Amino acid sequence: MKPSIYRESQAIIDLEAIRNNVRNECARLTSEQELFAVVKANGYGHGAVKVAQAAKEAGATGFCVSDLSEAIELREANLSDEPILVLSYVNPKYAKIALDQNISLTATSLQWLTETEQELTKASTTEKLKVHLKIDTGMGRVGLRDESEFEQASELFKTSSTLEMEGLFTHFATADSVAVDYFEHQQAKFLNAKSYFNQKIRYIHTSNSATALWHQGWESNVIRFGDAMYGMNPSGVALEEPFKLMPALSLETVITHIKELPPHEKIGYGITYETTDNEWIGTLPIGYADGLRRKYQGFRVIVDGEYAPIVGRICMDQCMIRLKQVYPIGTKVTIIGDNGDRNNSAQDAAEYIETINYEVTCALSDRLPRIYLNE
Ligand SMILES: *Cc1c(COP(=O)(O)O)cnc(C)c1O
Repeated sequence: MKPSIYRESQAIIDLEAIRNNVRNECARLTSEQELFAVVKANGYGHGAVKVAQAAKEAGATGFCVSDLSEAIELREANLSDEPILVLSYVNPKYAKIALDQNISLTATSLQWLTETEQELTKASTTEKLKVHLKIDTGMGRVGLRDESEFEQASELFKTSSTLEMEGLFTHFATADSVAVDYFEHQQAKFLNAKSYFNQKIRYIHTSNSATALWHQGWESNVIRFGDAMYGMNPSGVALEEPFKLMPALSLETVITHIKELPPHEKIGYGITYETTDNEWIGTLPIGYADGLRRKYQGFRVIVDGEYAPIVGRICMDQCMIRLKQVYPIGTKVTIIGDNGDRNNSAQDAAEYIETINYEVTCALSDRLPRIYLNE
């Protein structure tokens, strides 16, 4: 799908904010630690390639994605030398593609390791595929859990002619919470797992944004920096940011239609809103197909530095807002971002629709053009 460029709804991404967040985090790392920018899901909706390039300019030395297509997109965009790690399961039948493009894959299980070995042996490759072994220390998603598996995996890597153990890693389920007991439980599990691997491993990593921000990037010589790189607080509001995160994304549109209605006029599908007074009602060219979920009904967008609530149900491509006065067609409307003295953060939006800031930006669809500032 092509972005709808003949319409004034857009996601505006300030790449200098991305660079700032990366620089500030890099300044907190030890000399042994590196930062990989997590740009999965099209860079959390911000645009993977542009974000990866900006992060690289600011000090990121590699990238994490969630599938092979996302990794290939970066390689095709001339990010040809940096390590790229696919964090999720990739079917072993595609391992040769990863190898050919120097993309590192995650071993999600012992079965994955043996199948991938077979696939690459069949393909009679001379190079070894770079593999990061995932330990499931309590996230319950993917990874090896048992000590007998750690032993077998360690042996397999020692003798394999097709697989190189480039990394050992885990993922914390609660690094963004005030309570640390489960975090500590996972830490102990990881240290135990690590003790089974006496070979030299290039990358040991445990740190998403939250572990980097609030646990000093524990046991990591590379951190996987995602949400915070986009200027969002991974804990929501639970934990205070150790440095000011700069939000990179704004979501803006314009008024495309405006009218004054008398009392008792109805608005939108299901007529869930009725005017109570003489009211100025504006129409915006953005709807749930753009990621402005129907749950945002009632959320206050910002026009001319003043809040204006979304009234009536949000349609697929449009929605309506109530304004205090008439405004010209084309007046800017800020859904997320700054407008005058007011601001809506992705966190405000997330709280309104009862989700996390991650989902707010990831939900923005391909229809919305991405406009980049400070390229
Ligand atoms: C998405 C993801 C990250 C990044 O997490 P943030 O909270 O956005 O920093 C890190 N590691 C893994 C395994 C992930 O899936």
